[in-house]
Amino acid sequence: MSVLHSDELRDDPKLEACATSPSGHLRVGTPPGPHILKIQLAIERLRPTGPSISAAEKSAMSYGPTTARAVLNYKTTHLPPIINFSYQRVPDDIVGQMTIVAMDAELLGSPLPTRDAVADRAHDASREALRLALSHLRLLRTDIDLLPASTDPAFSGALTALLFKHKRNIAVLAKRLLLTADPSSGPFRTSLDKVILLCERNLAQRKTILAAGTTGLCDPANPRNARGLPHAWTAASQPDPKTHLCEPFFTNDPLDLQRDVITHEYFHLQGLDDIAVNNTADALRNANTIAQVVAFVADRFRQSNSDGNERAVPPLPVP
Ligand SMILES: [Zn+2]
Repeated sequence: MSVLHSDELRDDPKLEACATSPSGHLRVGTPPGPHILKIQLAIERLRPTGPSISAAEKSAMSYGPTTARAVLNYKTTHLPPIINFSYQRVPDDIVGQMTIVAMDAELLGSPLPTRDAVADRAHDASREALRLALSHLRLLRTDIDLLPASTDPAFSGALTALLFKHKRNIAVLAKRLLLTADPSSGPFRTSLDKVILLCERNLAQRKTILAAGTTGLCDPANPRNARGLPHAWTAASQPDPKTHLCEPFFTNDPLDLQRDVITHEYFHLQGLDDIAVNNTADALRNANTIAQVVAFVADRFRQSNSDGNERAVPPLPVP
């Protein structure tokens, strides 16, 4: 029966031996291996401000002096300090039975977010970004509608004020949708309407995500994944959940990119595609273009896509 239950330490025979037998204890000189790396990563997680473990020891998965110092710090800072009073009065730098059981318990008490929780958080952040972007875009639309007629002497002053008030929103729309930055023009106003409608539909989409990892549409054996897994796959034609979040989403993507992946994938459910953009009509049919409009309008200081690409030159106006 296994003694260790945390995701980080369980199901490892050498760590189980460490938890159950003095001959399995880990110390300087113990032969290297993945079980040592698990201890190193666990200590880093539990004592993020403790003495650092050298990159060399981690890449060699070896229990060297920096690992020993981190172990000693863990045992000293644990409440109570981890001391086997049968033979010592102060902690040592060995991972024995008491130490690994204490680490396991502490890891269980602060579990990593589950994949479902990561997916839920990204989903909620995507909804929030859409709501925020919509509030900016609807206000822009209202302000355009309130412009006096172009023949009215008040027109140019009102337009100047609108251009200033909405400088970022207008710059984002013009750049991403390949429009002239004239909000009083027909094409600008029509495109703004279309973006607002797409965002409203995206926001109205019922939740349909699966933390798939390497299952479902993200199965590496699927021929369409032959060149590697994407962030996600969406198939509008299949039963819910229609958006499958693949392994790289969980292992590589920063929080804002996870958010924008959900926004992007849900635009596929509204009929948008992944296409090259050469004109405004293309832009309004491309999922990533509209997802980036949402991100750039919601994040008032953003200058590049959440995947780091397409840095704005010159910089977009802020905020
Ligand atoms: Zn796509």
